[in-house]
Amino acid sequence: MSSTSTGNVTVIDAKRGLRPRASASDVEVAARLAALQEKAKGRDAHGILELALREEFAGKTAVVSSFGAESVVLLKLVADIDPNTPILFLNTGKLFGETLRYRDRLQDVLGLGDVRSLAPSLEEREKKDPEGTLWSRDADACCDFRKTIPLSRALEPFQAQITGRKRFQTRERADMQAVEYFEGRYRFNPLWQWDLHQLEAFVERNNLPQHPLVEDGYPSIGCMPCTRRVQAGEDYRAGRWSGLDKDECGIHLTDGGGI
Ligand code: SF4
Repeated sequence: MSSTSTGNVTVIDAKRGLRPRASASDVEVAARLAALQEKAKGRDAHGILELALREEFAGKTAVVSSFGAESVVLLKLVADIDPNTPILFLNTGKLFGETLRYRDRLQDVLGLGDVRSLAPSLEEREKKDPEGTLWSRDADACCDFRKTIPLSRALEPFQAQITGRKRFQTRERADMQAVEYFEGRYRFNPLWQWDLHQLEAFVERNNLPQHPLVEDGYPSIGCMPCTRRVQAGEDYRAGRWSGLDKDECGIHLTDGGGI
């Protein structure tokens, strides 16, 4: 990811058409982050969401959701606090039709009042991927213009974001904290310590609808060209970018280090 870091906070490269955020000094950011991490200590997922949505960043927080296999858990927790929280959904143009229908269903079931579908502009698609096959030649470049850049633009008005990332998912996520700082805003990960069993139990207990592809052998779901079924015994994310040395799309990569 192209970014710069000066004496101020890291911002996304303006050459990609993204406005730098109002700067805060590293010292200020570090102090606020430490205070937020202290407040998050000992809180469960609901408590961490309350911290972001009610206590610290009311009206200034967006949720990033793929409406994938496990997304319903975070969305249910958010809806219980404020169903009108902005939900940013990356409609890359390469998603399964099942995901789009699942988004619509969850919107109705959970009463979500502000789901925002993000997509690259027609101009960008014609310029960068006129044949729609960039994923097969350069997946990082495809994720960059279909996911990272649209999300960065949509996040500009917000001071904080909420993700559904979990520690158990990937090597890169194993060190994540409940609250982090990423590209100019605070990032809350209320499910950071959850495992698959807890996620499944929550879905069952709350009688929530599952993504239809889960039963069909897809425990982790992204874009159609970059997601395959997982065989018995494989890691649950083995179907994402299978065969490539890649397990993040870039929207969650930590500085220096990647739905
Ligand atoms: S997951 Fe695949 S199709 Fe989707 S944006 Fe990334 S490379 Fe492109």
